[in-house]
Amino acid sequence: MKKLLLLLVCFAHFLISCSSPSGGSKETESLKTENISSHSHTHNYVEEAHSYAQPNAAVIKHLDLDILVDFEQKIISGQASYKIESFESNVIILDSKFLEIEKVLADGKAAKFKMGSPDKLLGQSLNIDIEKSTKEISIFYKTSAESEALQWLNPMQTADKKHPFLLTQGQAILTRTWIPIQDSPQIRITYNAKVKVPKDLMAVMSAENPKSKTSNGIYEFKMRQSISPYLIALAVGDIEYKSISPRTGVYAEKSMLEKVHFEFSDMEKMVVAAENLYGDYVWDQFDVIVLPPSFPFGGMENPRLTFATPTVIAGDKSLTSLIAHELAHSWSGNLVTNATWNDFWLNEGFTVYFEMRIMEALYGKDRADMLALIARQDLEEEIEGFKESPEDTKLKLDLNERNPDDGMTSIAYDKGYLFLRTLEETVGREKLDLFLKNYFKEHAFSTMHTERFVDYLNKNLLEKHGISFNTEEWIYQAGLPSNQAIISSDKFTLVENFIDQIVKTSKIDKSASKSWTSQEWVHFVKNLPSEIGSKQMAMIDQAFDLSNSKNSYIAMVWYEQSILKNYHGNKVDAKIEEFLIEVGRRWYVSTIFKALKKSGQRGKAIEIYKKARPNYHSVTANTIDEILNFKPKE
Ligand SMILES: [Zn+2]
Repeated sequence: MKKLLLLLVCFAHFLISCSSPSGGSKETESLKTENISSHSHTHNYVEEAHSYAQPNAAVIKHLDLDILVDFEQKIISGQASYKIESFESNVIILDSKFLEIEKVLADGKAAKFKMGSPDKLLGQSLNIDIEKSTKEISIFYKTSAESEALQWLNPMQTADKKHPFLLTQGQAILTRTWIPIQDSPQIRITYNAKVKVPKDLMAVMSAENPKSKTSNGIYEFKMRQSISPYLIALAVGDIEYKSISPRTGVYAEKSMLEKVHFEFSDMEKMVVAAENLYGDYVWDQFDVIVLPPSFPFGGMENPRLTFATPTVIAGDKSLTSLIAHELAHSWSGNLVTNATWNDFWLNEGFTVYFEMRIMEALYGKDRADMLALIARQDLEEEIEGFKESPEDTKLKLDLNERNPDDGMTSIAYDKGYLFLRTLEETVGREKLDLFLKNYFKEHAFSTMHTERFVDYLNKNLLEKHGISFNTEEWIYQAGLPSNQAIISSDKFTLVENFIDQIVKTSKIDKSASKSWTSQEWVHFVKNLPSEIGSKQMAMIDQAFDLSNSKNSYIAMVWYEQSILKNYHGNKVDAKIEEFLIEVGRRWYVSTIFKALKKSGQRGKAIEIYKKARPNYHSVTANTIDEILNFKPKE
């Protein structure tokens, strides 16, 4: 593992921005770079801790993938060919993990290659000998049972229960477990893929996608805009497509398709709102695929095709801020990408801010502020949870020798959001919007790291308008600065009054909650105070039947409270177990497992976890292993 985090100065920095190291689609800028000196390329990449690649010596530019998806053996095999650019190097280094490399060609001829020693986190380097003139390398390989990106689901784990399903999750450093690749977020490549799957299934990728099944199970894909390797994604299953507008639509299993289509029917409106805020949607198509419930995240912003959990299908469109979030990543994350995982907040903080603005544009300030306040509470809980390691509450992280997934906390998301919201209040919305619009435009198809962002912010917003702001404190210090934006919601105040009433009178006036949204319910449940014991929990459950809520978010927070308040009525324990076994969304299940542990029920948690773990993606299993200190091999 590399420990050095070196920021190399861009040779061309004084002449132009060095923002577009591989910037295939940002043609004007990369052309300019080439005119200056081909050597300027070699100084463009930041040394980073989570990839063996040395892109300053030789870098991949385009991938042609030709693979077979074998559901019987649960293996992907085939060939990954790269167009490369090398800078007088005689070796190109890729990342691989749990892959079996059969042979390698360089410009069509057998090439020598060597695997580095395996690291538990990073996998192995794949060092391929090349000539100075080599233009293309081809790697023949196979995945293995350990490939962490891949989740092979049996028919019973799907909605329709008839066919198996495969999904991939690349972020943060898992793409290397199904494709040998330079797996660093600052690499950008275009790709074409040919994927062969069983005839009764459809394959879709983060690329131009089919809208119906082919007769022979062969699918061809094209991604013509350059993306980071963690955004390469594949899903294979018995799915169908239904369009919402010419550029938006949904994929889902048959039994889910109509529900999903209704739930996400505002997608086109969301794209329009987003474009009005920060510029054109450049990825042509914005589709969403709803996956089986074991998908580890709420959503994953794979370009052109967001992957989403079915837990947001509430039947009333109340949890669709998730779609606004993934859409916002089309700018923050996919277009302007964090250079290293230490800069993850640049992806997520900006995306949460953008998400809230889309939600405000579509559904009004009330809804957006409720979402922001829920995020605010999550943030406070997260900071409290990091009491022993305040370093982890900084926006700019140091994840060297750690799993980048450790940085996927509420800090990057919600502290990042609060930073931008506070900035908005300080400089005014109009100025911030113009700044952000230019930020996305000027850095499109390139990567950004924290220090460069701070520079850019100072020059283009703060100094420009003579405004002082404690940017460094927000980004480089632990905890929350005192100048944070105050967010308030009258609706939440009413919810809090309602709770007070219950505490004082031990009575429930059901009419007060009649028109509550999901957000108000969540706020209600999350803020039940310690005075509320199992008796009052039973009364609340009797009034609202929350143990049987069909809204997964409300159910999740209710289960958490039930555990913490030692409530066991209305068969809630059985419900919790069922939920933990069926749903694999990391945030949901980790919240519940943490509550079990906190309330001294680790034994019970382990008992359930043993049943649930086979359904979880590696990303979720790793997190729960850690929470419960569970050793799977013992
Ligand atoms: Zn996100």
